[in-house]
Amino acid sequence: MDILKQLGIKDENHGACSGSGQWNRTTDSGKLDSINPATGERIASVYQCSKDDYHELVKKSNVAFKDWRKVPAPIRGELVRQMGEALREKKDALGSLVSMEMGKIKQEGDGEVQEMIDIADFAVGQSRMLYGKTMHSERPDHRMYEQWHPLGSIGVISAFNFPVAVWAWNAFIAAIAGDTTIWKPSSSAPLTGIAIQNICNDVMERNGYTGIFSIIVGKGSVIGETLINDKNIPMVSFTGSTAMGRHVSEMVAKRFGKTILELGGNNAIIADETADMDMLVPAVVFGAVGTAGQRCTSTRRVIIHESRYEELTKRLVSAYAQVKIGDPLDEGTLMGPLVDAGAVEVYKNAMKVIAEVGGEVLYGGNVIEGEGYYVEPTIVKAKNEWQIVQDETFAPILYIIPYKTLDEAIEIHNAVPQGLSSAMFTLNVRHAEQFLSARGSDCGIANINIGTSGAEIGGAFGGEKETGGGRESGSDAWKQYMRRQTNTINWSNELPLAQGIKFDI
Ligand code: NAD
Repeated sequence: MDILKQLGIKDENHGACSGSGQWNRTTDSGKLDSINPATGERIASVYQCSKDDYHELVKKSNVAFKDWRKVPAPIRGELVRQMGEALREKKDALGSLVSMEMGKIKQEGDGEVQEMIDIADFAVGQSRMLYGKTMHSERPDHRMYEQWHPLGSIGVISAFNFPVAVWAWNAFIAAIAGDTTIWKPSSSAPLTGIAIQNICNDVMERNGYTGIFSIIVGKGSVIGETLINDKNIPMVSFTGSTAMGRHVSEMVAKRFGKTILELGGNNAIIADETADMDMLVPAVVFGAVGTAGQRCTSTRRVIIHESRYEELTKRLVSAYAQVKIGDPLDEGTLMGPLVDAGAVEVYKNAMKVIAEVGGEVLYGGNVIEGEGYYVEPTIVKAKNEWQIVQDETFAPILYIIPYKTLDEAIEIHNAVPQGLSSAMFTLNVRHAEQFLSARGSDCGIANINIGTSGAEIGGAFGGEKETGGGRESGSDAWKQYMRRQTNTINWSNELPLAQGIKFDI
């Protein structure tokens, strides 16, 4: 297949590499088939890795860290700049592979690669801005300051729905911070991982490095589990479901490791009496239908003022009827398939539960029979307190919930366990400010007149409550990939103690 060739992926590729193109040779840990969800057909297979492969890789990564931490941060930035350039060259092929392997439409696949390029650019700038504070000492002729040092080899475990961008958010910031990374990609998207590692290998080799970026493909229960329990990995950045994130958090905390947790969302848009319907409708459709509802930031609930309920549902139903469902690589397709047969089952079960609790289906609700894993985008009039609404169903199901007062809308909005992304559509400045205030949205991301999905890399990304509390990508998220050290230098001839303590001997 042309795209695989362009990205240097062989059928039966091996699954672990720390650079220089030296892939491991294990063949007895089982083969993993990468399946195209649009057709159900196998794209290629990968030999999964063993625990021994893992330990070998970590050893190399730990050794590489010892030198990498000595490289000046702006020079580390130069390596990341070259990664950004290499991604620019491969953007089209990589974007297509993302679409082929996990089913998001080509526009979104390309957008995901663009996000990697953006974060590379951001990281290059950040490499010259790893600032620490200075502070005035209470003791004479003393100087105090903080500086930031790298942590070591960082484990990155990623979810299927952003198979490459999430790696870049972590790996590029970690690299300029002086860390090395070991990436365990989702077993639903191993080929995109291999394609990225091939790019890393070229760039590392050109610059005389190995082990800055490493990959290991394998079962979550074997490789993921070994990684989260490994003391040689001081920090694990985990993106995935809340259930798995809870386990990862417990295991890593037990050994006093650090985590960045980017877990499930249950994102809502509040639309008040003044909402601009011409903006609201496309924002809801993109948020709920984009990536077939498989974004952590997908719009799952619309909390609509009762006076606008009829108008909104009418316009949404008519917009949903125009959504072209099909092969994600075809131009004009707006919604591709779900990732696999399991995801279709989850959708089916959710529709069963919705029927049982009395949800009124306003649009969709069915599996589309035939090849591939397609379902109809679905709109349901619902009650926020239903368990099915409280849970994140990773599928294009949108719940519409009418409200009477703004206080009630905000209460409904926050009354879910997750706290990732949120939005309000309003032309009323008081409503907007209340939503953004401390008594407003309890999410990590809160927008006005912009939907819940499609964040820019410049801001810190992440959410509260069961979304895990992690922050990645922009702003000061880099600090999580480093350790803080407070330094005090006494350049006097005395040894005064802090707090004026006398301890004469
Ligand atoms: P998942 O939890 O099933 O898998 C995530 C990763 O965990 C995979 O790489 C998997 O192989 C690995 N894993 C499995 N068992 C493991 C173990 N025992 N130890 C360590 N790792 C193990 O999630 P998914 O279905 O791939 O992704 C969808 C979920 O991810 C959704 O809940 C979505 O909201 C969430 N997500 C969150 C964000 C965010 O930034 N908040 C971004 C993307 C996806």
